[in-house]
Amino acid sequence: MFPYQGYTGKWLHVNLTTGEIEPRELDPALAENYLGGNGFGARLLWERVGPDVDPLSPESLLIFAAGPLVGTLMPNGCRMEVIAKSPLTGIYGDANAGGSFGPELKFAGWDAIVFTGQSPQPVYLAIAGERVELRDADHLWGRTTSQTEATIRQTWGDARVKTATIGPAGENLVRFAGIQTTPQRSAARCGLGAVMGSKRLKAIAARGRGPVRIADPPRFHDLAVDFHRRIRANPVYAPVSTHGTPGIITLMDALGRFPTRNFQLGSFPEVDKIGAESLEARAFVRHLACFGCPVHCDKLHRIPDGPYTGTTLRSVEYETFSSLGSGVWSADLDGILVANRLCDDLGLDTISAGRAISFAMELWEQEIINLDDTGGLALRWGDMALVLRLLGMIARREGFGGLLAEGTRRAAQTIGRGAEEYAMHVKGMEIPAQDGRAQKSMGLAHATSSRGADHLKAFPTIDEAGYPGEARRRYGEEYLPEMANPLATKYKPLLVKDGEDFGAVVDSVGVCKSGGTFVMAELYWPDIAAALEAATGMEMPVERLKRTGERVYNLQRCYNALHGITRADDRLPRRFSEEPSPSGNARGEVIDLEPMLDEYYRLRGWDSATGWPTAEKLRELGLEEAIERLGGRE
Ligand code: SF4
Repeated sequence: MFPYQGYTGKWLHVNLTTGEIEPRELDPALAENYLGGNGFGARLLWERVGPDVDPLSPESLLIFAAGPLVGTLMPNGCRMEVIAKSPLTGIYGDANAGGSFGPELKFAGWDAIVFTGQSPQPVYLAIAGERVELRDADHLWGRTTSQTEATIRQTWGDARVKTATIGPAGENLVRFAGIQTTPQRSAARCGLGAVMGSKRLKAIAARGRGPVRIADPPRFHDLAVDFHRRIRANPVYAPVSTHGTPGIITLMDALGRFPTRNFQLGSFPEVDKIGAESLEARAFVRHLACFGCPVHCDKLHRIPDGPYTGTTLRSVEYETFSSLGSGVWSADLDGILVANRLCDDLGLDTISAGRAISFAMELWEQEIINLDDTGGLALRWGDMALVLRLLGMIARREGFGGLLAEGTRRAAQTIGRGAEEYAMHVKGMEIPAQDGRAQKSMGLAHATSSRGADHLKAFPTIDEAGYPGEARRRYGEEYLPEMANPLATKYKPLLVKDGEDFGAVVDSVGVCKSGGTFVMAELYWPDIAAALEAATGMEMPVERLKRTGERVYNLQRCYNALHGITRADDRLPRRFSEEPSPSGNARGEVIDLEPMLDEYYRLRGWDSATGWPTAEKLRELGLEEAIERLGGRE
């Protein structure tokens, strides 16, 4: 009997080479030290996927893990975490999705699934509670994610089946292929859809009816009610629930933080055409929410007329309006929505796909590539028909699309001729819709994130547009005014370190960052500690939870160190440090990363020369085994 509630206490081990499916007991020590989700994944990769393992080989592990608060009354306790070595970056990789797949996996009785091997033919894993089997997926191979979900539901005869599926991009091993989960939510980043494709695993389908047991139901209920009430009372609730993440487009544009034209600019002259007001007037149908979420930042949109009449999609995000809009210099609102839907169906990460295309467009502008390189395509800024065509070519690895399917870093290395100068990535991952010149904490966060350029690991939001009240509540009066000033560098290493540790916990327990924890900054360490204690029965003082977040994040860093990552890789493209921003509030700004990195390593207890955790820090976190594995460095 598993000693803690909130967990099912069971995980599935699926060997796709042999077809063997083995239910295993969850080790309580794993839950105590790594919580779940992201923490489980980091631990398993560290133990079992060494530097010699190709992410797309049968030896690679693919882990799906739903944390202990998933499927409970916890507001937005819905996140399904997927973890594997990334084929895009070659280092630690993870991505998570909201919706309802994670809760369904818990209701079916499983905390995690670990896939190894490679199936001889396409299969999908069907989970109906305790009954788990691999089924033939020949008829699904080549189909889009939405076709796959619909076919599985039809075959099963149950519309409530939840799926996680890849599209043609994952099958064709596109290095930024994502995984689409019910209902149209993406575990998009790091190319984990390609890992699934390499294993010839087309989908997972789950249906469950079991409860998620809670250790102290009255206390947990009271906490959940209080969290729901506080989230609804938070001043950020109304704009986020009304407009979703597109609601920040015009604000970010004014700050000079809305990447435009492959980061040449931080503001887009036609931003009004693609802002939330235009989107809502054109295509809004109704509000939607993930499992258990009071925020409902998700929306259903439908194009009412014109060449794309009837195109529907949900969860169009702020990020996509930059990557497939301003980033490629297009204000074609319908085109952006269609491109988003196409990415969802093909199983592509909208961020990396858009950035790869805008990178190619800048190479064309700079005359680094020509018609011979592109197979006759003129890569002109703002050509949305071309963007739509390229997305299909990338997913099918067709012609020039095959080169972009390798990701920006590899494509630049293949092209040569100075192309790397324009490749906007960190550690091989394309940079999302922030600009470190306009928000210094975000620049540092992109540089230090354990999965390459990423806003969601540290997710520094309280200095985004300046929230002094929140900065005061979290850190104290003495950190103001700098902590809330996006252009200040002072105290930002603390903001990033704290965000990374807290984010590691949030991703491990399975709560959404767009809900109460980061965007609203309402729920913080004491709240998650209390919820975890009431849900699981595990003793969880705040200091222990902080140490756990730090442990998970340090283990991810150790994993990357094992793969050769050092301080030299914690860098940003030259554009951010040498080309002053021409836009908005950030006009004239560059980012000076090195002093922030020095302070960040000091706070982390990492060696400032290598950027590796010191032996002292590893001992403090109970990660002694990493000292020897990293070469005994003291
Ligand atoms: S805040 Fe948005 S993304 Fe997060 S759980 Fe709620 S609806 Fe889903």
